[in-house]
Amino acid sequence: MIRTGRQYRDSLRDGRQVFINGERVKDVTVHPSFKPLVDIRALVYDMQHDAATREVMSYCDNGQRHAIGNKLPMTQDDWWDKRRATDTVLDRIGGIVTRIGDETVGEMWSLHDGQDLLNEVDPRFSANIRNHVARVVELDPFHVSANTDPKGDRSKRPQDQDPDMLLHVVKETDAGLVVRGAKYETAAAYANQAFTKPTIANWGDSDYSDYAVGFICDFSSPNLKFICRTGFAGRGPAADYPLANKFDEIDSLVIFDDVLVPWENVLFYRHTRAASFIRATLHRYSAFAYVQRNLKLADMLIGAALFNARQTGLDKQQAVQEKLAQLACYREGINAHLTAAVALGERSPAGLLMPNQSLLFTGRVLATSKLHEMMHIARELCGGQICVTPDKAAFDDPETRPWLEKFYKVNDDWEPEDRRKLLAFARDLLNSDYAGHRLTFQLFAQSPPFAHLAAVYRSFDWNGPLAFVQKAADLSVKVLPPGLKPKRNGAVP
Ligand SMILES: Cc1cc2nc3c(=O)[nH]c(=O)nc-3n(C[C@H](O)[C@H](O)[C@H](O)COP(=O)(O)OP(=O)(O)OC[C@H]3O[C@@H](n4cnc5c(N)ncnc54)[C@H](O)[C@@H]3O)c2cc1C
Repeated sequence: MIRTGRQYRDSLRDGRQVFINGERVKDVTVHPSFKPLVDIRALVYDMQHDAATREVMSYCDNGQRHAIGNKLPMTQDDWWDKRRATDTVLDRIGGIVTRIGDETVGEMWSLHDGQDLLNEVDPRFSANIRNHVARVVELDPFHVSANTDPKGDRSKRPQDQDPDMLLHVVKETDAGLVVRGAKYETAAAYANQAFTKPTIANWGDSDYSDYAVGFICDFSSPNLKFICRTGFAGRGPAADYPLANKFDEIDSLVIFDDVLVPWENVLFYRHTRAASFIRATLHRYSAFAYVQRNLKLADMLIGAALFNARQTGLDKQQAVQEKLAQLACYREGINAHLTAAVALGERSPAGLLMPNQSLLFTGRVLATSKLHEMMHIARELCGGQICVTPDKAAFDDPETRPWLEKFYKVNDDWEPEDRRKLLAFARDLLNSDYAGHRLTFQLFAQSPPFAHLAAVYRSFDWNGPLAFVQKAADLSVKVLPPGLKPKRNGAVP
């Protein structure tokens, strides 16, 4: 079943306790800080029904329609379909939103791959993950991600400080587990559920720690509180901050004040190996949709920089063309990683099609670690006018308008209003509070940079280069046990 935007909005009116700027929010669907993103998420639901976009956004199975984003990936076509559906959304809204479900649902598929491990502790846990993967397909909830605790002092064991610094189980009951702690979660205040799991490997040296717990958190559960960071929407006029006003994805510190998690939502408990497994494999699917956002961000950087260079006639300069070419290399580098990751996809232990892990994770490092440099090139190409241009109010004021129209009319092709709009767009993309926030989001929201590199280290086939050098240097040392061949990353399949 696919939900409608209206059903989604109704699902958020569940008495949840949301706070922002010292205010208790009565209804997130109409509050100015949340409404822009609720409207976009609702639009995504409606696009699944709309005749113009239905085929791209949903698929039919046994006479029922389901969201493409929630479909378990079995083939390369499934990945092309997902990529197309996400692009369709981003093109339609004219901007970038990341935490809208397609990018987070894949975290559950990773645990789905670890069912043998879950069976070691309790077969009910592997049944639970299968049910939840199917439930998302069936019910189409807005599913997000919860990994990051406040953590406290990392030099101490969790037990040696305020124990709530890491989310943990405080009680087992017949109905389920009672958990305490907190997690940072983007979009939680206007989503329905999150796959909640530990983010660190320090469980106090115990194989059966209370901290090693993973579950689906239903956001309508009592005793949850969503304490949100202040929003960017409404801080300045939309004409001056067009991105911040439309696309700000509010993050929450979600407080678990003794929250009951029913047994059917528990995915592992007192099982540090399962917790380690999910840490190591968490993004094997979801990194694809995450990196896809960087591709769109690169398009926005190129578009803003090139329009500016054309407005001012600078695109004829070779030095300017070289900087634009650097942006294009970045963009196409991401595109190549995403495309090749699908073309050279790999079978997962549970038989799903994973994007090629080495190509996906090296692509994520390329996309995130070079983003600040690319923003800087685009900033340079846009010139200093993005930070000195007056706001729209000054362009409208009868006293100042004639001067601004005079100095912002670059030539016969470009009207002052278009020049003002482009500079406002570029400022919000590159220079504003919101721009800095998005740069940090891309760097951190899917784990920090050192974890991105750790994923590369785990997935790159080191044996390929070793085998090559072993032969080239005529070394007698063995690279692999007899009979095993290196995977040869990137070799023609
Ligand atoms: C905008 C935004 C949105 C987010 N959304 C979500 C979300 O939806 N869900 C969610 O769960 N989390 C979310 N996060 C949290 C994000 O996953 C964390 O910020 C990230 O995991 C890092 O944790 P931390 O902030 O506690 O930094 P810390 O763990 O304090 O790390 C800070 C720095 O210390 C260094 N460091 C720490 N540990 C190590 C180590 N072991 N090895 C090497 N260097 C190390 C690194 O330089 C690291 O970047 C979001 C973060 C941001 C900024």
